[in-house]
Amino acid sequence: MRTDASMDNDTSHNLTHASQEALEHLQQQGLRRSLRRVLSTSGAEIALPQRDSVINFSSNDYLGLATSEALKEAMREGVDRFGVGSGASRLVCGNYAPHEDLEAALASYKGAEAALAFTSGYATAVGTIPALVGPGDVVILDKLSHASLIDAAKLSGATIRIFPHNHLGKLERLLAGAREKGGASTRVLVVTESIFSMDGDAAPLAEIIALKEKHGAWLLVDEAHAVGVLGPQGRGLVASLGLEKQVELQMGTLSKAIGVSGGYVATSSAVRDLLINRARSLIYSTAPPPAVAWTAKHAISLLQSAEGEARREKLWANKRLLLSLLGGTFTAQTNALPAAILPIIIGDEEAAVQTSAALLEAGHLIPAIRYPTVSRGAARLRLTLSAIHEAGQIEALVACLRRMVPQLGIATHGA
Ligand code: PMP
Repeated sequence: MRTDASMDNDTSHNLTHASQEALEHLQQQGLRRSLRRVLSTSGAEIALPQRDSVINFSSNDYLGLATSEALKEAMREGVDRFGVGSGASRLVCGNYAPHEDLEAALASYKGAEAALAFTSGYATAVGTIPALVGPGDVVILDKLSHASLIDAAKLSGATIRIFPHNHLGKLERLLAGAREKGGASTRVLVVTESIFSMDGDAAPLAEIIALKEKHGAWLLVDEAHAVGVLGPQGRGLVASLGLEKQVELQMGTLSKAIGVSGGYVATSSAVRDLLINRARSLIYSTAPPPAVAWTAKHAISLLQSAEGEARREKLWANKRLLLSLLGGTFTAQTNALPAAILPIIIGDEEAAVQTSAALLEAGHLIPAIRYPTVSRGAARLRLTLSAIHEAGQIEALVACLRRMVPQLGIATHGA
């Protein structure tokens, strides 16, 4: 019979030991990750324990709103009025006026009848998709869809089909075959991002919409990296193409260009009401602090103001400067569409980590993005720009990249 002592010595039952083994395995593959401590920030400049001033080229705060005086003031005001926490889930007593006011602002901003806010973009995806489709249904995703969308599809229990990135022919074949098994009652949901998070390229939304309409499917478009920066008043790619009425679910986050924290889905009132009844990440999770919703609502107004426009202009001026400076050395990705994301593909995981470390040493923070966030062998530096970068900071970065290109063998992503 096993004694407690023998159980203690049995390493297979020792969680710490099993974890150490798993970590060693990750280390050997060049895939071990660790947290980086940021001590303070004044916008583009951040302080790290080993360096008190580093220029951040990795944030999704594309307009610099996270440290804007206007939103800091809004957050203080929100805290004064509503405290720091909501105290319960939305359905209990955590549904404050700022949550609903934010949702009304989001609905109007996104050209939808209604919107529902969640604690994060991740919570939005895992709450929304399983509330709308389930076993017997089919979810068809672009291969480069964000992990939150893939996890949400898995959680729903629906059959998952993946099409190669932006491959309309394959999407059409999957749509054509989606009801083969289950017949007419099968619900089919197509999922894509509008601007892809790791590549900065765009989905062919008009074509995807034509296909999903032809085959009677629904469409969810994750606009996480488009909202705030693209289209009139930063309303996103769907709005810039005038397609709001044809996308059943426009999803996004409040944590990137909007500068705060949270997620949302803009949709019809009926879908919103159903999600309130079924989305488990909304029902069983404490509502976001009302002060956060209050601040996000101010951010939505700011995006539609002259200041929002000026920040977007500065972001795109920065992107033009970066591309023109990179031009000679890099075959930089010159998307027709402006994304604030520029992937510098390194390929090898270890080489990406080393390049990133050398850049940090020189005062530029661009972390290496590796498997499983991107495919194996497609490790990259994911460079992001913000409206708060100064021309001199971009020039210094490019001078540094130029020095590192030959010795580190950086190969860039083709257009
Ligand atoms: N969707 C996409 C495309 C994203 O890039 C992210 C964030 N990395 C999310 C959803 C999740 O959003 P959040 O960080 O607000 O949870």
